[in-house]
Amino acid sequence: MQLHFLGTGAGMPSKDRNTSAVALKLLEERGSIWLFDCGEATQHQILHTTIKPRKVDKVFITHLHGDHIFGLPGFISSRSFLGGEEPLTIYGPKGLKQWLEQTLKLTKTHLTYELYFEEVVEGIVFEDAQFIVKAMPLEHVIECFGYRIEQKPLAGELYIDKAIALGVPKGPLLGQLKAGNDVVLENGHVVRSMDVTSPPQDGFTVAILGDTKYCENAKNLSYEADIVIHEATFDHATIHLAAQYGHSTNTEAAQIAKEANAQTLILNHISARFLEKDLPHFLAEAQHVFANTFIAHDQLQFEWKQHEVIVKE
Ligand SMILES: [Zn+2]
Ligand SMILES: [Zn+2]
Repeated sequence: MQLHFLGTGAGMPSKDRNTSAVALKLLEERGSIWLFDCGEATQHQILHTTIKPRKVDKVFITHLHGDHIFGLPGFISSRSFLGGEEPLTIYGPKGLKQWLEQTLKLTKTHLTYELYFEEVVEGIVFEDAQFIVKAMPLEHVIECFGYRIEQKPLAGELYIDKAIALGVPKGPLLGQLKAGNDVVLENGHVVRSMDVTSPPQDGFTVAILGDTKYCENAKNLSYEADIVIHEATFDHATIHLAAQYGHSTNTEAAQIAKEANAQTLILNHISARFLEKDLPHFLAEAQHVFANTFIAHDQLQFEWKQHEVIVKE
C-alpha cells in the first residue's frame, strides 16, 4: 500500500501547497486507487504522478467545503476523456450528489462510465473480502466525516506438498485450506488449515480524517491504526483559533495519535501562514507529544509494508 499526498494545504491553494487530496494506492492489493478528497486542481497534481485516473475507482469525500471538492467535476470529466470505462463510486455527505449531478447536467458533461453515489452516514460505508471502510462524524463547522480503512488479514501461504502428503486431493479442498477452513477427506480424516498453511498476515489500518477540531471520534477512528492522517491547520501558539474555526493544531493531532495508540501520524491541511522555515518548529511541537510524526507536503509518498512505514520522496 502506498499513500500519495496530492494536496496538503488548508482553505485555498498556495504556491507551496495545493488543496486537499490524498491517493491510497492499492495497486498490489486490488489493482486500484482510492482518492480521499479532491480539492481544486487535483487532476493537475495527478499529472505529475504515475497515477492513471481510470485506476481510481472510489473517491471518498470528507465534507463539502470547496477546498475538498472543487476538483471533482474536472477530475471525473478528464477520467472520461482519457477513456475510463470502469465505474466510479463517490462516497460523501448528503448534498454531494445533488451538487455534482447539477454541475454535470448544466455543463453538459457526458461520462463514458457509470458514476455511482453512496451517501455517507456513520458506520460501515464499504466492505468486501479484502477491505472494510468505516465513517464517523467529526466536529467541523459543517457536517464532516473521517474514514478508517482496514485491510482484512491476508490468508497464509498454502504448503501444497504438505497438504497432498496428508491425502488432500488436488481441487477445491486446497482452496478451502488456503482460506483458513479445515476440511474432511473422503476417508473421514480431518486436515486442519493451520497444519498446511503459514499463519495469516495482518493487514494495515489507515485513518484519513477530514477537517475537525480535537474530538473523540478522531481518536476512535485512529485507534491502533498504522497510519493516521490528521489535519493541523494551526500550531500551538494559535490554539485559540483552532476550535473557533473547527480545526486542530499540530499538538492536538499529536494528542489524538498518542491517545489512540497509533503507530505513525502524518499532518496535513497546513495553513499557508506557516512558511517552509516555520516547519521544523511546527514538527518539533507535534513530535514532543507524539514522536513518530511527519508533515505531509504535496507529492510526498509513504509506503506501508508489513507494519513498517517508509517515506518516499
Ligand atoms: Zn479544509
Ligand atoms: Zn472544511
